[in-house]
Amino acid sequence: MNKLIGIVNSLNYKELKDIQKDLAEGNMGNLIKARMEEIEKSRGYDERICPTCGNKVSEETAKYILTFGSSDFRKRAMFDEMDCLTFFIEKLKIQKKTIDE
Ligand SMILES: [Zn+2]
Repeated sequence: MNKLIGIVNSLNYKELKDIQKDLAEGNMGNLIKARMEEIEKSRGYDERICPTCGNKVSEETAKYILTFGSSDFRKRAMFDEMDCLTFFIEKLKIQKKTIDE
């Protein structure tokens, strides 16, 4: 977060306005997703992390694999434990509720 604060503080008004627009239009989310996929690819397919606790998981060690999202924006997450999957789904429910309101 400190790195992000430094970046935000170094931007001028127009740059901030452009980023605000990108955030609202979802472009920033797509950019972050693309960069994360690039990093994951460079690490090799097997080295993924559980999105809840951060433990390393792979196709072989994951106890649960969840595919979710709309058909044009499918996401896939692997979980090491049921608790992590449950927590993740609760977060999705809250996000969906916030979007629907
Ligand atoms: Zn986990």
